[in-house]
Amino acid sequence: MTDISNRTEIAHYIGGAHISGNGTRKQPIYNPATGAVSRQVRLGTAQDVEAAVAAAQSAFPRWADTPPIRRARVLFKFLELLNRNKDELAALITAEHGKVFTDAQGEVARGIDIVEFSCGIPQLLKGDFTDQVSTGIDNWTLRQPLGVVAGVTPFNFPVMVPMWMFPVAIAAGNCFVLKPSPIDPSPSLFIADLLKQSGLPDGVFNVVQGDKEVVDALLEHPDVKALSFVGSTPIANYIYETGARHGKRVQALGGAKNHMVVMPDADIDQAVDALIGAGYGSAGERCMAISVAVLVGDVADKLIPRLVERTRALKVLNGTNLAAEMGPIVTPAAHARISSYIEQGVKEGAQLLVDGRTFLGAAAGEGCANGFWMGGTLFDQVTPEMSIYREEIFGPVLSCVRVADFSAAVQLVNKHEFGNGVACFTRDGNVAREFTRRIQVGMVGINVPIPVPMAWHGFGGWKKSLFGDMHAYGEEGVRFYTKQKSVMQRWPESIGKGAEFAMPTAQ
Ligand code: NAD
Repeated sequence: MTDISNRTEIAHYIGGAHISGNGTRKQPIYNPATGAVSRQVRLGTAQDVEAAVAAAQSAFPRWADTPPIRRARVLFKFLELLNRNKDELAALITAEHGKVFTDAQGEVARGIDIVEFSCGIPQLLKGDFTDQVSTGIDNWTLRQPLGVVAGVTPFNFPVMVPMWMFPVAIAAGNCFVLKPSPIDPSPSLFIADLLKQSGLPDGVFNVVQGDKEVVDALLEHPDVKALSFVGSTPIANYIYETGARHGKRVQALGGAKNHMVVMPDADIDQAVDALIGAGYGSAGERCMAISVAVLVGDVADKLIPRLVERTRALKVLNGTNLAAEMGPIVTPAAHARISSYIEQGVKEGAQLLVDGRTFLGAAAGEGCANGFWMGGTLFDQVTPEMSIYREEIFGPVLSCVRVADFSAAVQLVNKHEFGNGVACFTRDGNVAREFTRRIQVGMVGINVPIPVPMAWHGFGGWKKSLFGDMHAYGEEGVRFYTKQKSVMQRWPESIGKGAEFAMPTAQ
């Protein structure tokens, strides 16, 4: 279907063609399981951005004028091709990100959800109409596309996060420029090929590989009307400020530190399962990973011994092995950062119950000795002043904090600067209701550890986890990628004689 996996170099996709562009800088793409360099990615330049934006801008008038139902038909075809190629796409994710194959399949499936949602664009773009707002006058609203819009995405979901953005954006009539993470850029070209085969006109979807240089060129380009970003908080903040200064609409989703509160009445086995899966799944490299277990009352004494046992028993294997529960860390730099947080945690007085640094790659499977491996790490007696509590580690490190009661748990979560996801495990409906209402976090799970909203609900955190007003995908996504126009209309028969000088009111 596509030849992406045979390429030695990954570059750009502009105006319907694969091009190398004029950048000379390249970056290696690793297979994190083996540590081998599989291919190179060419880092784009401001000229490459210029070419992509020009291609998008020239495709825009025709695409925006295409009836939404015909735009949706292209997406239906894309959906069909995605479903046919989903395992190939998942394998590409595992090869460059390292996450286990079944998890990569889940990522693709959650991306497909958004494509399905976007196929409903004719209904989503339907305006409001009020007959007779004044005698002989009607008022209606319509939503129109913005023009060229861009997406800058992180390494941890190379398929799903771009799919939070471009299906909604192009369904709404915009043209899109994607800047994927240079760590795992190949799926972006695979997607471009499928879109082309679906009949998407050239220029509607473009990809420019690269780093800050490309992002800055997008932020400064006057024809880029909106930018969606997902990544770490410092960069999200920078994108939001810079984009706003250049007059763009920006949604910038940042980092996280997600707590899971376990109440004394919770089912302990279920809570342990949830913490193991949500803490170590995808090696903790998820913005909705649980990184803090908040153990209320006497929960810790019952839960921690089981957590220790399960953390030690994690099946840390090459992601291509279907028995794997956790794969490698994405890059040597991420591995070093996580290791230094563990060291810091020990220095700051947290109790290290399981040390993932002792795990050796050779145990993960054949050829893995030089991969970027680490086992699950578990800390107890973590306190709010410690850096392992305050900062996002973005790795397989779970910190347990002990608190006396429900109030203290809510206070702890609410004081944290991040507010992406949170969960509460309890059997008590009143506790669940109070938790839901009082917690200062954007996405809440009641007995659900990773409450990623479905395609039609929209995704977004609070506080330092999101800069901007609108969440990704769902109806907020449609609003983000369109502007509302209000039309007031009357016909000559309804127009009275003479100029009107007073503010018009309903007659
Ligand atoms: P990152 O911030 O390093 O990179 C994200 C994107 O920004 C990449 O495309 C990268 O090339 C680009 N970038 C990096 N530095 C830049 C700079 N100085 N100027 C302009 N652009 C720059 O994030 P990452 O390491 O790829 O991803 C992990 C982070 O993403 C974590 O913090 C995680 O919590 C966050 N994340 C958040 C969500 C969410 O929905 N809130 C979802 C997924 C990931």
